[in-house]
Amino acid sequence: MLNVDLHCHSNISDGVLAPAAVAARAKANGVDVWALTDHDEIDGIVEARAAAAALDMHYVAGVEISITWANETVHIVGLQIDETNQALVQGLAATRGGREQRAKDMAIQLATVGIPHAYEGALKYVGNPDLISRTHFARYIIELGICPDIAGVFRKYLVEGKPGYVPHRWATLTDAVSWIRGAGGIAVIAHPGRYPLNDVATDVLFNEFKQLGGAAIEVVTGSHTIDQYQQYAKVAQHYGFLASRGSDFHGPGESRLDLGLLLPLPTGLTPVWHDWF
Ligand code: AMP
Ligand code: MN
Ligand code: MN
Ligand code: MN
Repeated sequence: MLNVDLHCHSNISDGVLAPAAVAARAKANGVDVWALTDHDEIDGIVEARAAAAALDMHYVAGVEISITWANETVHIVGLQIDETNQALVQGLAATRGGREQRAKDMAIQLATVGIPHAYEGALKYVGNPDLISRTHFARYIIELGICPDIAGVFRKYLVEGKPGYVPHRWATLTDAVSWIRGAGGIAVIAHPGRYPLNDVATDVLFNEFKQLGGAAIEVVTGSHTIDQYQQYAKVAQHYGFLASRGSDFHGPGESRLDLGLLLPLPTGLTPVWHDWF
């Protein structure tokens, strides 16, 4: 069976490793089919594709787009995209655009709870000046010894209701799906089990996504529990979605699952890669 990992990050967004190093780690872990899906950014694709080719690993061009839906942040993965598509390129640039000001606002709020210079501190961990994320702040707060791990920093400082959280309006669902589809890609709802949406809202999201031409959801992901693999397998069947699989790897020792080291998709699903080879 193919080892397919269609969700992970490099230092072009909030991952730790450069794209070529992520490729090497995926290969070493036995991945056969690999997509790098940096947040709101496609700048790592050229390096990732070349590295995958040199390693004889099947490469899939990807991205993970931040959207705001019903006042919550949701992530939409795009797979098999043409990363030179101008509407996609411009849409992602616009989506990234608000990050710098948001980061400065986060730093102001963090200073009021005794964490000064957090913007400069986070910047030390940023690999791409266009893409400063909450994860970079988390790494700096760990460096200060205030929290032992990323999950702890998020819980204490960076999620809604906590002092370092700054609300932000990302792309719309309609735009994200249309950028992905316009670039020849397949739209996938990332880690659907992670959103604070009730059953009714979730049903509306899935239906709206499907109506816009969204095709798949992640079922096996580092952001789901094992129970959720079964739960979202049923969801995929119910809505007629293809199923995706991805570690959401960000860095050694930081992520719950390493590249490629995931359970297979539950049986009875159509994998998102079913017609790729
Ligand atoms: P941002 O795009 O700046 O809002 O940052 C989002 C990123 O923060 C996600 O892609 C994850 O990498 C990370 N993240 C969000 N929530 C958590 C959490 N509860 N624990 C650990 N990492 C998280
Ligand atoms: Mn991330
Ligand atoms: Mn995500
Ligand atoms: Mn991700």
